[in-house]
Amino acid sequence: MSTRANRYDAEVLRREQVSDHLVRLTLGGDGLTGFTSTGIPDEWVGLVVPGQFQSRYYTVRSWTGGELVLDVVVHDVGLVTEWARRTCVGDVVTVTAARGSFAMPPEARWLMLMGDLTAMPAMARIAESVRDVPVRVWAEVPDDLAGYLPGDVDVTWLPDPGDGHSELAAVVEALDWPEGDGYFWMAGESAQMRAIRKHLMREVKLPTSHYDVMGYWRATSGRQPRAVDPGPVWRAGKAAGKTDEQIWADYDAAQTEEANDG
Ligand SMILES: Cc1cc2nc3c(=O)[nH]c(=O)nc-3n(C[C@H](O)[C@H](O)[C@H](O)COP(=O)(O)OP(=O)(O)OC[C@H]3O[C@@H](n4cnc5c(N)ncnc54)[C@H](O)[C@@H]3O)c2cc1C
Repeated sequence: MSTRANRYDAEVLRREQVSDHLVRLTLGGDGLTGFTSTGIPDEWVGLVVPGQFQSRYYTVRSWTGGELVLDVVVHDVGLVTEWARRTCVGDVVTVTAARGSFAMPPEARWLMLMGDLTAMPAMARIAESVRDVPVRVWAEVPDDLAGYLPGDVDVTWLPDPGDGHSELAAVVEALDWPEGDGYFWMAGESAQMRAIRKHLMREVKLPTSHYDVMGYWRATSGRQPRAVDPGPVWRAGKAAGKTDEQIWADYDAAQTEEANDG
């Protein structure tokens, strides 16, 4: 296990193309010793790819026998995108401990899931794990992902309008809410998710314990701005036995590199 608390160094063992924009990465190796699943079906890890300091979040698609599977969407540009687009097998990445958010109340009699391509790994895992109430899914995706969700789930496939646009807000506004207690889980672009939370609270008047609406990504015109995070530089320097002065010199160099890159 990594000497850094709650961080694990893992090797990319396999890379498979699931669909046009979705790449499955299987991570493994001794560095994952001690990694555990929370058992919460939308659990995620932070992923830091080689040569980067900032993390991006990815759903634990599965964790079995020492292998951690992440399904990564390849966007037009992006820090992880540009790495995952290439052959990355053999690379060593860092993942953080898993955390989850999905909390369906025991009295829930229905479950509705909605999201874009980045939400598909979580929606698939949730649908696989919740077997005792009817599950409905709305998926706004550009790829053919028939077979990605369990066969008995009622799925509405919505075309992805592209360019980071989404019609999901309109779909939520037009929803016929089932009778009785249930649970609504949704993930997508952060600003849109904020508006949807307001709608659920003010118009639908769902109790907050009956929905979970998560901002998975922020719409920007290019790569998300990346300030260099000093934490990993500090920890790597300490682990290498460097002095504080040397570590801050490394940090300055990383920032300069970042500015030149940008
Ligand atoms: C809890 C959680 C779980 C997540 N699980 C997954 C997962 O399992 N698989 C997965 O692929 N993603 C997942 N995401 C979303 C992922 O973290 C973001 O999409 C992230 O920004 C991708 O990083 P990047 O380095 O490729 O692109 P960035 O450098 O972060 O962004 C580059 C550009 O791409 C744009 N962009 C980012 N995401 C999207 C998008 N969905 N649609 C259109 N444009 C986009 C940005 O606006 C920006 O312009 C999850 C996020 C959270 C918070």
